Amino acid sequence: MRSSRNRYAVIGNPVEHSRSPEIHAMFAEQTGEAIVYERLLAPVDGFRAAVDRFRAEGGAGLNVTLPFKQQAYDYAKRCSVRVAVCGSANTLAFHEHDVFAENTDGPGLVNDIEKRCGVDLRARRVLLLGAGGAARGVVQPLLLAGVKQLVIANRTFERAQALVADLKVRLELGLRGYVSASRLEDVGDGWDVIVNATAAGLEGATPELPRHAWTETLLALDMVYGAAPTPFMIAAMHGGCERIEDGLGMLVAQAAESFGIWRSVVPRAQPVYDAMRARLAAGR
Ligand code: NAP
Repeated sequence: MRSSRNRYAVIGNPVEHSRSPEIHAMFAEQTGEAIVYERLLAPVDGFRAAVDRFRAEGGAGLNVTLPFKQQAYDYAKRCSVRVAVCGSANTLAFHEHDVFAENTDGPGLVNDIEKRCGVDLRARRVLLLGAGGAARGVVQPLLLAGVKQLVIANRTFERAQALVADLKVRLELGLRGYVSASRLEDVGDGWDVIVNATAAGLEGATPELPRHAWTETLLALDMVYGAAPTPFMIAAMHGGCERIEDGLGMLVAQAAESFGIWRSVVPRAQPVYDAMRARLAAGR
């Protein structure tokens, strides 16, 4: 249901680095939707109070970033199946007596891979690196996109195992055959797509994969983005990977999905991606 209210924000801690206000301003211009979108810094122990205040002041919706995605799930009265599966939300939509939670990270990733990168995920073998919130949020959408095999590999192997075990319970599907956990050094080869959902790039590092892991890889995508290639992207280049992308496309695509939930019109991601890419290249 479209809201008559027009105030939105991204809530997080820290939040000043967020590019979401720029992206949503471009969506608003493109669609003719008159929205106001700001940054909202909440104390680490003050998520609920900050959201209550924002709603009381007429806020219509929030994007939620670290460290509040699980608290956003707890806050909502209703949520999508996707959110119920992953247990975290990055989008809240407020109605008079109701709060709806969605997680658009997964659709953002899938849309970016399929539409912008042109890689059909059906029947693909996908290696997902990381076992934190970002990895958790994209598993179900990748499965729904039809991937044949999904292996989750993480520096701390036990976290990958725990994530797979938890998802199997939540998804209530016979996933045994096609979702499994691996140590980074044991990932094997022949991956069509390798997605880096770790935060390693933020500290100038990359998950250590064996060199043969990149053999035949069509697409390597790092969720981290920036003006320069990340260490993961450089490793993919050395590995001979066909196409190498950072997380800017996913960021824009997940924002487009959130905008669609709030305003009932899904903006086109590509022109906003192009504009954001130009800004990053110019150091802005
Ligand atoms: P998180 O919950 O803190 O998880 C961090 C993950 O990164 C863990 O799996 C951790 O492994 C791994 N890691 C950290 N440093 C590492 C290193 N040096 N080498 C190998 N693995 C390392 O974070 P998150 O919420 O999942 O977010 C992960 C990244 O995705 C962040 O950089 C975030 O900005 C990005 N992200 C991007 C988008 C987008 O739209 N582009 C959307 C969501 C998230 P251990 O378990 O071993 O510690």
